[in-house]
Amino acid sequence: MNRRQLLLSALPLAAGLMPGCSSAPKKSALPGPPLPPDPRRPLSPSFASGPVPTSLPQGIRFSYSSCHVPGPFTAMTYDDGPHPSLTPRLLDMLAQWNLKATFFLIGKNAAAYPRIVQRIVAEGHEVANHSWDHPALSKLSDAAVRSQLRRTHDTIFQACGVASLCYRPPYGAITAAQKAWIAREFGYPTIMWSVDPNDWRDRNAGIVSSRIRAGARAGAIILAHDIHATTVAAMPSTLPPLQQRGLRFVSVASLITMEASGPNAGLAMATPSQPITSYAPGTY
Ligand SMILES: [Zn+2]
Repeated sequence: MNRRQLLLSALPLAAGLMPGCSSAPKKSALPGPPLPPDPRRPLSPSFASGPVPTSLPQGIRFSYSSCHVPGPFTAMTYDDGPHPSLTPRLLDMLAQWNLKATFFLIGKNAAAYPRIVQRIVAEGHEVANHSWDHPALSKLSDAAVRSQLRRTHDTIFQACGVASLCYRPPYGAITAAQKAWIAREFGYPTIMWSVDPNDWRDRNAGIVSSRIRAGARAGAIILAHDIHATTVAAMPSTLPPLQQRGLRFVSVASLITMEASGPNAGLAMATPSQPITSYAPGTY
């Protein structure tokens, strides 16, 4: 039995064990089978292009709402952009704070603003797939889901030369069976979240900031939207204070890689410009 046969034989079992998916993120501690490589993606686990990995390691999970990491690492994620003015404003802030994030891009927005996609990548952030026009994927046929993800994957790649390593389903709406075939076909793990400030509903920077600060901890995946002015305005009172608490912001791909790479991987991957000085286990 070769690797692909092993993978395929493991899928129905793994999919059957996956917890049901709703709009609320759920933790899945089940290890998934190895994901197949994307043929257009470099195969070596190289960090040469910066802090964002160019591939994911073998043996990662199908689905993540948070990661088990050995240090104070967390992932800030921004969905639904790029936005023509708010995303650049956010990028200015992230650069000032030397903070890396993941942008889950809508394909049609990436097609409209390819220069912003290029800037996101040039400044060391991760770009990832958030569908073409934000439907609830759980209600679509496999063919329609495939089209949503493929078209977006290709558009992001054409804009910036980087292949997305993961995707986030709009509204978190995805079934266990869909997660399994998307992992098999695209090599994408499903990225949910563990901190949701409901910034799309509550357009109040103070509320958004306090919710994120209350939820942020090591291994967290924090959901936000860079298409809302209030969310971007919330960042100065949110992210620098969390950095001062010792948290270090990395891409989702880095967080997944840390979890998959063993208990000491996180410390080894800390960027020299952000020395860990105040982390104590159990603080976050
Ligand atoms: Zn979205």
